[in-house]
Amino acid sequence: MTSVKTPVLEVTDLKKHFPVRKGVLGRVADNVHAVDGVTFSINEGETLGLVGESGCGKSTVGRTVLRLLKPTAGSIRLVGNDITTLGNRALRAHRRRMQIIFQDPFSSLDPRMSAGEIVGELLDVHGVITGSERKQRVAELFEHVGLRSDQLRNYPHEFSGGQRQRLGIARALSLNPELIICDEPVSALDVSIQAQVINLLMDLQQEYSLSYLFIAHDLAVVEHISDQVAVMYLGRIVEVADKRELFASPQHPYTESLLAAVPAPDPARERKKRLLKGDVPSPISRPSGCHFHTRCPYATERCRVEDPPLKEVAEGHRIGHRVACHLR
Ligand code: SF4
Repeated sequence: MTSVKTPVLEVTDLKKHFPVRKGVLGRVADNVHAVDGVTFSINEGETLGLVGESGCGKSTVGRTVLRLLKPTAGSIRLVGNDITTLGNRALRAHRRRMQIIFQDPFSSLDPRMSAGEIVGELLDVHGVITGSERKQRVAELFEHVGLRSDQLRNYPHEFSGGQRQRLGIARALSLNPELIICDEPVSALDVSIQAQVINLLMDLQQEYSLSYLFIAHDLAVVEHISDQVAVMYLGRIVEVADKRELFASPQHPYTESLLAAVPAPDPARERKKRLLKGDVPSPISRPSGCHFHTRCPYATERCRVEDPPLKEVAEGHRIGHRVACHLR
């Protein structure tokens, strides 16, 4: 009998729009549709890779899920609890259950705090444990992420980039969260270090049944760690599927283009190159119809006027395969 896993995070039709104000009175003249109706869920112990070019809204999804930003519409459920509209006081208990690892380990750590203070900071803020218990927990966290306890008194500048990201991971783990938003956690690291950090995240996931929302601009980075992959374009998910299904049989032209940029392990089976032209259009004045039509090699008149819904194109896989394209 297959065990049914519990969703740790359920996001339904999430929107985050930022008003654009103009004039002396600061009237709202327009809106940036940073996130525009995004739906996904992540089960216990699993990873959703959220991928797209810079400016597609993926980091805004992460920050809105964490309620660092107030959602414009939609709902966010964390382990069955609706946290979409909770005020700060009610959110406090839920904040412990979800943490974030930032992209840049160089600027996300306070240079005036020692490594031990950084890793123990959230324990102090939430008043979870104090004294010798706290000391022991911080030392354990150091060990879990592959740092030495004799580095507790060192300052961030005394660590390498990879070690600093390990500090960020230890800090995120300190309150035993169920969900971690990994916001481009390896983009600022050397390729050789990226694999080490991803392997560490996977080991920790196995050990603590962690769920990850893993945000990246590069499909190659999410391939190893993800169970499912969602591709975002201009605030919307345009394709979502089980990882293997998405890499073996991409259905959306945008996913095809992102995959074309991933080096194939076997040059003989090199994917047909269909590299993207142009930049992502502005999320203030998005193209009509399918937002991708200005860059899509298959665009037709219908694409310019009709917005394709995200619909199921293949069943039989664990999570289905959904695509927003008139060709499917
Ligand atoms: Fe391209 Fe049209 Fe499909 Fe959009 S709907 S991805 S423009 S073919």
